[in-house]
Amino acid sequence: MAEHVIRLIWDAWRTRKKGAGAIAQRQRSRLADMVADARANSPLYRELYRDLPDRVESAEQLPVTDKKMLMERFDDWGTDRAVTLEAAEAFVEDPKRIGELFLDKYTLMTTSGTTGRRGIFVVDSHTMAVVTAMMLRWMGDWLSPSDFLKIIARRGRMAMVMATGGHFASAVAAARLKKRRGKQVEILSAHMPMTELVARLNHFQPALLAPYASMAAMLADEQEAGRLDIHPVLLALSAEGLPQEEYGRIARMFNAKVGNSYAASECMFMSAMCDQGWLHVNADWVAFEPVDADYLPVAPGEQSHTVLISNLANRVQPILRYDLGDSVLQRPDPCPCGNPLPAIRVQGRSADVLTFRTAGGNVRLPPLTLSQPIEAVCGVTLFQLAHTEPEKLQLRLQISSAANADAVWREAEAGLRGVLAEHGLEHVVVERGGEPPEQGRGGKFREVIPLSA
Ligand SMILES: [Zn+2]
Repeated sequence: MAEHVIRLIWDAWRTRKKGAGAIAQRQRSRLADMVADARANSPLYRELYRDLPDRVESAEQLPVTDKKMLMERFDDWGTDRAVTLEAAEAFVEDPKRIGELFLDKYTLMTTSGTTGRRGIFVVDSHTMAVVTAMMLRWMGDWLSPSDFLKIIARRGRMAMVMATGGHFASAVAAARLKKRRGKQVEILSAHMPMTELVARLNHFQPALLAPYASMAAMLADEQEAGRLDIHPVLLALSAEGLPQEEYGRIARMFNAKVGNSYAASECMFMSAMCDQGWLHVNADWVAFEPVDADYLPVAPGEQSHTVLISNLANRVQPILRYDLGDSVLQRPDPCPCGNPLPAIRVQGRSADVLTFRTAGGNVRLPPLTLSQPIEAVCGVTLFQLAHTEPEKLQLRLQISSAANADAVWREAEAGLRGVLAEHGLEHVVVERGGEPPEQGRGGKFREVIPLSA
């Protein structure tokens, strides 16, 4: 495994060194192999690609797929017939198995995606090696040799703050790390009240801190107020986008480097941010197409409607020309940081923190904290939580026809009330929305909508 990762790092380094032409060449040959493999071994792709030429080297030749299509044809989608929806759901329903191997060889995770529709993704070990190699490549971009020495001196102590209680990508990664590194890894739940989170971090004193982005912004407030007193070398953020100036503020508050990545369960190694604030897409391992609403290419410099991705590593469940739903803008000129990989900014994922006034001061809840207990309910196919009045939330659910709508509602409501109670917000009313989730501009569903000012 280690040897495999080193080979991948070497290959990535050499490819990037040779520039854009070599990166495009890698992408073409890997795409051709992926398509050939998907056609040979996935009944769904065999059907989809029936009329395509024998060799396909460009993602633009492929029909578009999305989460709905792949989830509906789950048993036909994979290239391993043992990967069935029944087996995957049985695994997902057991929280004790988070981070364990599915069918003794795969990594399995569920999405907390921005579309509110639950997905189950199965990933092979080769892909996990690519993830490790890409993460090491990012760390090399973010940190100086002296930063690495500081991290080693503090035995690489790492704290992760995340949505717990489900098979989410971050929780799966955390469980794996914890198993390997024991006490050097601290896993903290985003459900924890802020006072407890601050106390635990002060005690643990991480050298590396991995929160999702809106949580990092809240921790920066705590550090500024003096309640939090930690000195990490690196904050590695994930999950959401923040206003650009927030990254600089977080770095100043902690006197630390801030690394940010933009990825998805569908493609965990997608991109990472450079010191110029641009996300560089790992185009040697993912074909990334910003497109308009008709799936036609959008020129660099223009905001896209969505983006189509092809994951060029994962063979067990091919993700090819997949509509991710995020709106991106690609930089038209070379990035001043010198990285030849395409540079983008993402508009789709914003951190919709909800703020509630209480006698004891403002309580702020990041979107993942609120969405996680709803996502965890079986039978919810789409949901939206709107902060409609200062002390009222409205939950709009789309429920699968096979489920009992009232039972699903009660379970989602109870989960949400539990989270509110943990944060001293028992008085907030949770109302059942009559209408289905509303589609926002650009066709995207926002899971969590803050109170409008
Ligand atoms: Zn750059």
